[in-house]
Amino acid sequence: MQLQGKKVLAAFAHPDDAELCCFGTLARWMKEGAEVHVLVATRGTRTNSALAAERISETLQASLLADYMMISEDFPDGHLVCNTELVSLIDRYLRDLDPHIVITHYPQPVGEGHQDHFALSNAVMNSVRRNQRVKWCLFAEPPTHPGPFAPNLFVDITAYLDLKKQAVALHMSQQNKAYMVLDSVETRARWWALQSYVEGFKGRAFEAFQVVKGVID
Ligand SMILES: [Zn+2]
Repeated sequence: MQLQGKKVLAAFAHPDDAELCCFGTLARWMKEGAEVHVLVATRGTRTNSALAAERISETLQASLLADYMMISEDFPDGHLVCNTELVSLIDRYLRDLDPHIVITHYPQPVGEGHQDHFALSNAVMNSVRRNQRVKWCLFAEPPTHPGPFAPNLFVDITAYLDLKKQAVALHMSQQNKAYMVLDSVETRARWWALQSYVEGFKGRAFEAFQVVKGVID
């Protein structure tokens, strides 16, 4: 995919979501000339970590590793609802930024994934479906998915895997979470290299996405 000069909007619920789901891809696309914006809808303060207040600065530091733009909103953590306010927010960013590609959460059902991820993903889909200028919309792989996730787009992030691990490691406030273990981050990337069925997958690392909208015009 030729992304020179194209805009990408990645919209996620919490600080650390973009890093866990698709940091390698965002870093690669920035390097290849895209203009990447990451929208974080909440400040992630509803956590049992004593470092809750640090979460925005952690994700800001991570953004500097890839040099993308970070946008922080202040919706109530844990209480995101796919309502007019949230959909209007996404509408506004689509209008203002005019992205070619939009990435968001895979909408895991509540109980399997975080309720905020589900709400934000639905708001993004609502908005993208009505926007004729967004050509691609992708669900990024959740860090854990015991239920179905059927990726059909794989991005080679071999050259960016170490940077992704650095970005995840910056989230010191979340180090008690199992999915933050750097071995898991690498294992997922190696697994998707195998599943992508590309020649010479050994030693390579990929991120996985599900295409929910794709237009070549
Ligand atoms: Zn999250």
